[in-house]
Amino acid sequence: MTILNITQGQGYIAKIERQSFVDGEGVRCSLYVSGCPFACLNCYNKAAQNFKYGERFNNETLNEILKNCEPDYIEGLSILGGEPFCNLDVTLTCAQAFRKRFGDSKTLWVWTGFLFEYLANDQTLRIEFLKNIDVLIDGPFINHLYKPNLPYKGSLNQRIIDVHKSLENNKVVEYT
Ligand code: SF4
Repeated sequence: MTILNITQGQGYIAKIERQSFVDGEGVRCSLYVSGCPFACLNCYNKAAQNFKYGERFNNETLNEILKNCEPDYIEGLSILGGEPFCNLDVTLTCAQAFRKRFGDSKTLWVWTGFLFEYLANDQTLRIEFLKNIDVLIDGPFINHLYKPNLPYKGSLNQRIIDVHKSLENNKVVEYT
């Protein structure tokens, strides 16, 4: 098994932040999943590279996340890691439940170590997760490209992508 084949994690999450002011636009609920195979040097969340870090995700967790997203002042849900695209057992479940509850009235932002081009051509359920996302910050954290205070990202290689426009145009369209 290679990194690319890991789509379902172990069903663990590192933490939920009820109100985050930094993980995307506006006030958001943030979910950090556990498990990332990329092992970037100076990863911002090294503990969550372990697929069994934190606590198990279950229906109660899902309900808590949806409830956190309910207030009008919450703009949406942000999913970080760990690697969201290696934890579809958690992240696709959340994304689909989030869309069912809120439609397009709130936004979904996701951070990934994969490149958009790879995900858009993936033959697994990753594409289903991608289709539910509004804004994707893609690419691994590259230590020598680190720059402080970049909005929503840690290193210069990462891109902030408008997923719907990118899928429509079959090329990356940056989110503005
Ligand atoms: S992709 Fe993100 S979570 Fe995974 S090792 Fe790199 S910085 Fe850490």
